Amino acid sequence: MALTQALITGGAGFIGSHLTERLLAAGQTVTIIDDLSTGRLANLAHLEGDARLRVVVEDIRNTQVMDRLVSECDVVYHLAAAVGVEKILSEPIATIEINIGGTEVVLKTARRYRKQVMLASTSEVYGKGVRFPFTEDDDTVMGATIRSRWSYATTKAIDEFLALAYHKEVGLPVVIFRLFNTVGPRQTGQYGMVLPRFVQAALAGKPIQVYGDGEQSRCFCNVHDAVEAIYGLSQMPSAVGQVFNVGSREEVSILELAKRVKARAGSESEIRLIPYTEAYEAGFEDFRRRVPNIAKIQSMIEWEPTTTLDETIDQIIHYYREKMNDGGNHT
Ligand code: UDP
Repeated sequence: MALTQALITGGAGFIGSHLTERLLAAGQTVTIIDDLSTGRLANLAHLEGDARLRVVVEDIRNTQVMDRLVSECDVVYHLAAAVGVEKILSEPIATIEINIGGTEVVLKTARRYRKQVMLASTSEVYGKGVRFPFTEDDDTVMGATIRSRWSYATTKAIDEFLALAYHKEVGLPVVIFRLFNTVGPRQTGQYGMVLPRFVQAALAGKPIQVYGDGEQSRCFCNVHDAVEAIYGLSQMPSAVGQVFNVGSREEVSILELAKRVKARAGSESEIRLIPYTEAYEAGFEDFRRRVPNIAKIQSMIEWEPTTTLDETIDQIIHYYREKMNDGGNHT
């Protein structure tokens, strides 16, 4: 049966708002539930007036509301979570409670009505993995519990375990996608994400702050490509019960990223190296590399990221320039 009524938890967030657009473009009706903790209605402003879109401002742990919304949809895209390194370090209790409690409600309710769940997870679950690229059935290597960074990875790993348990024990149709660094317009730098921070600093002529020696690397995937992957997986019955990496293979060091942002923005900003001890709380552990193996999703849906990092940087520069011209919120 075709899935035509979607519920997106966290739909007012950066990725959720792009997914909303994609599903509407596919002719689906979309209901969003978002408590606006990190999401913003402004992310959806351009879709206002579309009769197929409904926005409910509520915490996903409100079981009554979730019961009604899940009963009315065909598929739940569960994106709502506490995200961003800065937020996770500053709100460790909420991170754990929302990420585990919210997913529990989603899965329990989906079971009641036997609805498909598309669960957003993260490359953080690989932890300090040392074998590159990261492949879905690799071991996870978590850090010590005294370091709160690892709580995020652990909560998302628990979410994955729980979703897979529902699939195994009661046959709930679940698909898990592990998002690697995902970037694009509407992402805010407020919670720690590097690329919007670099772009904002470059446009404001402020120092671009590179943490550590800048030799750590990441693969940045454009949000349009990521959303295409999520949509593609949702249409594929054989994806059920499985975990998929979603990310780009274009690897770049953070120092190189800073240089590229500066050049593309035509900025005079200084690129400044900031020791980790100044950037984060004591004992913070960063990842040196993070590279996805995307062979599995490619064999499932023939997906390939098509946007280059330079194109993405240009999109983000354009987005923030427009915002500055509007005199809007610059975060
Ligand atoms: N980073 C940085 N300057 C910033 C924010 C982040 O140099 O203003 C670094 C950070 O230490 C990490 C990389 O950029 O090495 C990516 O950080 P982000 O939080 O975006 O993603 P994650 O660490 O979760 O991959």
